[in-house]
Amino acid sequence: MSNKYFKLLTSYFLLILCLAGCEQNQNPSIYKNTRPLMGTYVTITVTADSKEQAQKAIDAGFLEVERLEALLSLWRPDSELSRVNATAFDRPVEVSKELIDISKKSLEISQLTDGAFDPTIGPLVRLWNVTENKAPPDPEDVERARLLVDYRNVIIKGSTIHFLKKGITFDPGGIAKGYTADRVVALLKNIGIKSGIVAIAGDIKVFGAGGKGEGQKEDPWQVGIQDPRGEGLIASVELLDGAISTSGDYERYFIFEGRRYHHLLDPATGYPAKGIREVSVLDKQGVNCDGLATGLFVLGPERAKKKMENMNLAGLIVTETGEIYLSPAAKQHVKILPTMQ
Ligand code: ADP
Ligand code: MG
Repeated sequence: MSNKYFKLLTSYFLLILCLAGCEQNQNPSIYKNTRPLMGTYVTITVTADSKEQAQKAIDAGFLEVERLEALLSLWRPDSELSRVNATAFDRPVEVSKELIDISKKSLEISQLTDGAFDPTIGPLVRLWNVTENKAPPDPEDVERARLLVDYRNVIIKGSTIHFLKKGITFDPGGIAKGYTADRVVALLKNIGIKSGIVAIAGDIKVFGAGGKGEGQKEDPWQVGIQDPRGEGLIASVELLDGAISTSGDYERYFIFEGRRYHHLLDPATGYPAKGIREVSVLDKQGVNCDGLATGLFVLGPERAKKKMENMNLAGLIVTETGEIYLSPAAKQHVKILPTMQ
């Protein structure tokens, strides 16, 4: 393994594995900390003049993650989202501006992906429960749940949300991590941090130059894209003020009779989407990357490639046969790495 790739791998794993307090990188101006939040690990990295400044900024960043986790998760019965789900079929429900903005964004991504991304997917997610189940559910149950999935039954008007069908569950969780990364970066910038990375599992947003910590203008951060069937990386991405999200079939799944059943479900069939192992999407906004990576995954390789080209979207697809596709817009940012053996 060449020294260069080793460095890339090391920094990637450090990003994921560093669980201690605010830690200083080898470079004196880079600090980071990782905490378990949003059902995964969140790492905030900042460049700062002192450990105190870094610690203050990182703590404020984690508070913002906690606030959004509470707003966007369904597990709290007293949350705004739970209230919407319990009552929005009876009548339009008044909600906060932030929840309206996030909900509008999920519906926009549904439209952009022809309904492949669908924030009403909840009944299917619960039925498949791929982290607990060991076998696919009964096909009749799949069909029953699928009939409750259609984002067009969610109507947003002014500051209200209304469901047109009983049994709809609205869950913007499919864009929550990307949205949160955007908000945390906005907050860090507001309090004077010049550059950094917010990584929420596969949803990563960077800002400012200084990946090498030297504050140089054209000094991008390096992010790795994981091999969906191996330990290493398949590509490296250079990012300056932008985001990347990766959706894959390799973290939440079970194998039944030799077939992989994963967590990205196709609203058109009710079954896990076929044809792709992994999709990465690059964009200025993390919220777009997060939703589009999931939606494009569900669309399958041919439709996803066309969408990327038509939308001039920078992205990478690994198909189920292991073929790696780079969209034309991705070529200037993404470097495919030779297999490391
Ligand atoms: P990934 O990082 O793999 O994209 P995310 O957490 O961003 O994972 O989104 C996947 C989650 O979104 C699933 O666990 C499920 O709750 C939900 N989901 C599954 N299929 C869809 C879909 N077609 N549209 C929107 N959300 C989905
Ligand atoms: Mg996603």
